[in-house]
Amino acid sequence: MLGSAPRPSPGRGRETADVAVIGAGLAGLAAAHHLTAAGLRVTVLEAAGTVGGRMATEEIDGYRLDRGGRLLSSDWPELRRCPGLETLALRPFASGVLIRSGDRALRIGPPRAAGHARSVRGGGRRSARAAASALAGARRPLSGALDLARLRAQLTRLAATSADRLRTRPELPVAQALTARGVPARTVEGLLRPLLGALLCDPDLTTSSRVSDLVLRGFARGGLCLPAGGAATVPELLAAGLPPGTVRTGVRAVSVATNAVATREHGTVRCRAVLIATGAHDAAELLPGLRVPDFHQVTVLHHAVEDDAPAPEPLLLLDADRRGPVAYTTVASAVDPSRARPGRTLVSSVVLGPAAAGPVGELDRAARAQLAALYGVPTGRWHLLAAHHDARAVPAMPAPHDPRRPVRVLHGLYVCGDHRDTSSPQGALRSARRAAEAIRRDFGIRPRSEDPALPTAA
Ligand SMILES: Cc1cc2nc3c(=O)[nH]c(=O)nc-3n(C[C@H](O)[C@H](O)[C@H](O)COP(=O)(O)OP(=O)(O)OC[C@H]3O[C@@H](n4cnc5c(N)ncnc54)[C@H](O)[C@@H]3O)c2cc1C
Repeated sequence: MLGSAPRPSPGRGRETADVAVIGAGLAGLAAAHHLTAAGLRVTVLEAAGTVGGRMATEEIDGYRLDRGGRLLSSDWPELRRCPGLETLALRPFASGVLIRSGDRALRIGPPRAAGHARSVRGGGRRSARAAASALAGARRPLSGALDLARLRAQLTRLAATSADRLRTRPELPVAQALTARGVPARTVEGLLRPLLGALLCDPDLTTSSRVSDLVLRGFARGGLCLPAGGAATVPELLAAGLPPGTVRTGVRAVSVATNAVATREHGTVRCRAVLIATGAHDAAELLPGLRVPDFHQVTVLHHAVEDDAPAPEPLLLLDADRRGPVAYTTVASAVDPSRARPGRTLVSSVVLGPAAAGPVGELDRAARAQLAALYGVPTGRWHLLAAHHDARAVPAMPAPHDPRRPVRVLHGLYVCGDHRDTSSPQGALRSARRAAEAIRRDFGIRPRSEDPALPTAA
């Protein structure tokens, strides 16, 4: 099971930590929090020069540009419960979601009062039913009242249904499940495909219908948001809350044993347990035989706009007609003003599916034409700041999908990350909690009585 690179020789030398965590993405950093809270000495080894993994943000000319990890759900319990994220601020898409199809523009409103950034903790939750009906209330639909009524009914039902109940439903690829449930093709194509495609990064709707129901339920209950300051804010907050010296960047693990990690240039780290918190491919390098899922690829295009700016509305704009490569787009600086200098506008657009692999020049040309139609402004003078492509952005979750893949390989060796759970920051954080619990149990450390049980959710 262990990696083919030269094995760290077990049993010699001094332990430098109780647990060596490999990878400082969300999963590795969250696990480090849980483990240090249990009184364990932890060292986190990160190959890259910075923490965050796929939740990265780069700064260009005063713009803060996310490389990935874009849409968060305010309903994710781990964002509220993970230690270290107490001060995380989320910026909601306060004007909701606008789906454009032909001459129709269907707006799905946000589930809570619009216009204000919300701290993750401390916000009171309205009842699921009230939230869902506010969410589903369309404002000024140009047409498609029947489609809207169907979506309203579905969202209201989903928001009021327990996650456990949704997990007992038959599991099919979501496109098939929608047909089997009698949802008309027009509703699927006009509303659900663009919405679910964006939420799941899966425009072909191959994802498990259970996952899709849970994701749609989270959307109905909490709406969508971006982390204030960029995706990297989340891992940076986690890293800052760990004891100084816990995270070591620029250290690549090349092989593991149950009590040691061999690194490329920094010798061997001795420990009592190893937790691999990398993406799936890197985990399988260290643990040959570990399952590697297929991935959904994503390209993010960031445009700086000085003239011909679109209306600064904090909404997510979806293109049901798929008239170009962009699946969804947002005026990111309207959702989170910290992403551009005052007076500047940042438009971020996401390309999903095979189109995401296209050459940047062609993508940019086709996207500009599409964005001009979607926003109703000329885009010729927009400036492409960056195009980030990731072929392994989001692990696919086809049916049947096990959202609780085992995190314990054997005593002393554990694995976590979004590929062991659901493919999202919430899944990465929850897998970390499960892995830390397994380590604590193997070490004979009793859970603290004040630890509340984790609510079940997607
Ligand atoms: C472009 C893009 C768009 C996305 N959009 C969304 C979205 O809209 N909604 C959503 O929910 N999710 C989205 N995601 C997915 C989300 O970002 C991930 O699910 C989440 O960040 C995974 O966190 P992780 O900790 O499991 O893994 P990672 O973030 O991949 O962290 C793994 C870390 O391990 C390190 N590492 C790897 N190998 C080694 C080694 N040998 N030694 C030391 N360190 C190593 C890596 O450098 C990395 O820092 C998107 C991702 C991308 C890339």
